[in-house]
Amino acid sequence: MFIQYGVKAKHLTNEVIAAQCPACEKSDCIDMHVLQRYFQLYWIPFWPLEKTGVSYCNHCKQTLKLAEMPYPLRNGFHIMQAKTRTPMWTTTGLWLIIVFLSSALVYGFIDNARNAKLILSPLPGDVYEVKIKENKYTLYKVDQVIGDSVILHVNRYHIDSDLDFDKIMDKDYSTSSFKLSKTQLAAMVESHAILDVDREESKN
Ligand SMILES: [Zn+2]
Repeated sequence: MFIQYGVKAKHLTNEVIAAQCPACEKSDCIDMHVLQRYFQLYWIPFWPLEKTGVSYCNHCKQTLKLAEMPYPLRNGFHIMQAKTRTPMWTTTGLWLIIVFLSSALVYGFIDNARNAKLILSPLPGDVYEVKIKENKYTLYKVDQVIGDSVILHVNRYHIDSDLDFDKIMDKDYSTSSFKLSKTQLAAMVESHAILDVDREESKN
């Protein structure tokens, strides 16, 4: 997989500072630029790094990086840096991940609560997505509900991935049936042996 990442710098602010140019010795002609360095992942700013500076003499055009600046210029940079806030956009990627994870978590809770409710009030035609063991899945279909017992048929096929339930949804189910109690079914939801419950919208 190709992972794009790197360190970038973006211009934040600049102003002419009261300092003498080390090259042409003219005063008040140093244009000091403050840049924000940040870590970027897949072209999205992720985390702010330190700020850096570039000085530019408006008179003799000398350009110096922070490491090359003599003390008076570097001091001018530090004064500007102290009053320049780190922008919010530098943590965009981090916030996207936090929002995505919390949505997934909330969705998971809602889905589990819905499944538990559907299991306790089964209807003929309900289909349960079942994990038999590691990398082996199938479907159970509700045939009848008699009191606390649910009569089920097993799908004749099984699949290797829990992403492929759609492939066997319309396949044949075994003619023989078996019985589980609602309590047993609820325990299967709890232990994630039943991953999901599908019910036709009109019956919901
Ligand atoms: Zn100069």
